[in-house]
Amino acid sequence: MPAVFVDVAVDVPLPRLFTYVCPDGWLARAELGCLVQVPWRKSSRIGVVMKRHQTAPSEFTPRAVLSLLDTQPVLDVARCELARFMASYYRAPIGEVVKLMLPPSVEDFRLHLRAHPKPEPSPDLNTALGEKSARVLQLLHEERCTRPHSWSAFRQLLALDDAELSRLLELGIVLPELHAPSAEPKADALLISLTDAAFPKRLGPQQKAILDYLGTQGETPLSCLRETLDANPATLRRLEALGLLRQRIAPPKDPFLDSELPDRQAPTLNPAQEAAWQAAIAAEGFKSFLLHGVTGSGKTEVYLRIIETELRQNRGALVLLPEIALTPQVSALFRAAFGDAVAILHSGVSVAERNRAWLGIHRGQFRIAIGARSALFAPVRDLGVIVVDEEHDGSFKQSESPRYHARDMALMRAKLSNCRVILGSATPSLESYQLAATGKLSLLSLPERIASRPMPSVELVDMTEELRFAAEDDPLAPKPILSRPLLAALAQTLERQEQAIVLLNRRGHSTFVQCGYCGYVASCDACSVSLTYHRHGNLLQCHYCDHREPLPELCPRCLRPELELFGLGTQQLVEHLSEALPRCRIDRLDRDMARGSHLQKVLERFRQGQLDVLVGTQMVAKGHDIHNVTLVGVIAADASLNLPDFRAAERTFQLLTQVAGRAGRGLLPGKVVIQTMNPAHAALHAAQAHSFEDFVKGELPLRQALGYPPFGSLVCIRTEAVDAPTAEHYLRLVAQRFRASPKPGIQVLGPAPSPLGRLRGRARFQLLIKGRQRSPLHALLNEVLNDLQRQHPCPHGVRLVVDIDPLELL
Ligand code: ADP
Ligand code: ZN
Repeated sequence: MPAVFVDVAVDVPLPRLFTYVCPDGWLARAELGCLVQVPWRKSSRIGVVMKRHQTAPSEFTPRAVLSLLDTQPVLDVARCELARFMASYYRAPIGEVVKLMLPPSVEDFRLHLRAHPKPEPSPDLNTALGEKSARVLQLLHEERCTRPHSWSAFRQLLALDDAELSRLLELGIVLPELHAPSAEPKADALLISLTDAAFPKRLGPQQKAILDYLGTQGETPLSCLRETLDANPATLRRLEALGLLRQRIAPPKDPFLDSELPDRQAPTLNPAQEAAWQAAIAAEGFKSFLLHGVTGSGKTEVYLRIIETELRQNRGALVLLPEIALTPQVSALFRAAFGDAVAILHSGVSVAERNRAWLGIHRGQFRIAIGARSALFAPVRDLGVIVVDEEHDGSFKQSESPRYHARDMALMRAKLSNCRVILGSATPSLESYQLAATGKLSLLSLPERIASRPMPSVELVDMTEELRFAAEDDPLAPKPILSRPLLAALAQTLERQEQAIVLLNRRGHSTFVQCGYCGYVASCDACSVSLTYHRHGNLLQCHYCDHREPLPELCPRCLRPELELFGLGTQQLVEHLSEALPRCRIDRLDRDMARGSHLQKVLERFRQGQLDVLVGTQMVAKGHDIHNVTLVGVIAADASLNLPDFRAAERTFQLLTQVAGRAGRGLLPGKVVIQTMNPAHAALHAAQAHSFEDFVKGELPLRQALGYPPFGSLVCIRTEAVDAPTAEHYLRLVAQRFRASPKPGIQVLGPAPSPLGRLRGRARFQLLIKGRQRSPLHALLNEVLNDLQRQHPCPHGVRLVVDIDPLELL
């Protein structure tokens, strides 16, 4: 038999696979997508087989694979393909991409073995083991052999050598099992209960105590038995071996809900929902949809129904949400609908729990995985549908390598897995809109709110008017923060005992601190941004690198005690609101508050009606569905409008539409008040009219004229170095190379300092490359970067970042 070689993806920052040879026998069964342990320098690593072949490498003698962790691949063919595609498209090391698809602590996964549940005598067994076979067969029937053990432990149990054990594995008499110590349930995750077996006469005192306790208390967590009875593990094992106890792993707790899940009464779909559902399930195989439904139109119900249909046909589902911690309601809804078939993946839980969730999905115990961006790679079996909710959301793009966009990759995974994909939003990204307009996505529409509830009325308040009004009385009056219409609306809402959301997309107390005498502005030395004042702790904080320092008493430049707080942040807004509305219960929701479970508590209190007004950053705009919210106020619509980014208008429109969509979702009508210095802006008018079409009509021609997405592709190349000249110098060289081979339809812009010229102590420059068409742009990119790598590799101390389809140009 010719030797078998495997090319393995290992998590190292190198853009290639590593070739190993598979020794004959068991290890030669390392198929595409299998986990293997391979030698790496002086130790070993866990990697994934990405290719299997018979071509010996010519330049070196490959080392041998050490272990095969399971014969069942952890990556199906579709995800292997997806990893290859992503590595090449995003120019990312293949090992880094594959890592996204593996459980968090894959390095401690090992091969374990157990006996086949019904090992039968067979001629093969006799040839393999000769006279030992009868004894081994007997051992295999013992209970301890049907539990998983490491290779060496199992070999000892059977008293065999490696070759003999390997042969038993090949024959399927001994079975491999993917095993992770880190995924072992903790003591409180194991529930112990009595079986129906009658107690034997003779029992020790502790054995009796345990059985009595379980008899009166029912199923009890192991940790509790240990605490209350000091039950020792050996005693419990003995009772279990006697068949008196049974243990099971507690079902995963919903991290967001301590209480019982509500019973779910699936509503009857309205005609638009019914049509969307029918269209989505009609197709077999790969089909992609854009579900465009106004806020409150019942998109979630459509997803639920599609997934239910898939489950009935024994297919699984993936659901991606922008920020899972912010939308406990949505995940709770899925849990209520599908119970224990759902795994909720999020970064707030321990590594052990994440490993367990991953294994559960891999083994087919969970058919549905819900999570943020990275949940896209969950090992859901027989995938039937991928849902990307709020597909326009920027959090789907990863800002670190691999810089993938989960929405784009969802389309790719669906295509490779031959399944459906549904992108849903009230404010689709222009990229998805254009795909639908050109027929590449099928459009499903929910044009109305559930039960034809009206969209909220939207009032734009011109803050320059408010300023003039305030100045009439007192020419030195400070700039008003709350307009008269917003204050009046808040007062009315509170009087009716309804609730309000107030959006201000700037956290902290004051966005900057300036000396009233010399004009000095406190800024971060490492990042070129002003420091934000936080009242709690009396601190100045950098929102990029988290640098903190106490607020100085004197201006560091002119040494006068003239430092003043400027710019409004959410903290200060809460103070203003409390002053204006003294009896009102107010709290805020932003990144500073979002740590731990505090966020859920604030949201829960608001939901329960224990708060009247919720103040916050864009977090308050996410999918909250609270029927008593009838007023939404937006303090400064201009905050996002004036960013140096061609998507500023689109982001503003999305944010306003989403936050406005929180109002009037129940039986009570909603109202929205938007304060702005720029009331004539088209994006604001479109948001006022709830008209995505108006927005698109205004925005698309601008994008087209400048060749910005969706009418062209972008690549951002950035250099970072300790000093600016070094960063700029190398990027100039890169730019020259691009300009040396001009191509029609491709434009090179820059290099220029990034809008964030310094970040975490490093100077940043960027080069923007625009192409009318994607493939010539990427071809040129590869050509130039590969040439450069050969002739002028990036010098030491300079970091070169290539961001394909960038979202943030800061
Ligand atoms: P969207 O995600 O489109 O903003 P949701 O899916 O949150 O909207 O639905 C809005 C509200 O309407 C939710 O409270 C949901 O339970 C309810 N709902 C959805 N579909 C129906 C239906 N067919 N009949 C009655 N209520 C529905
Ligand atoms: Zn900083």
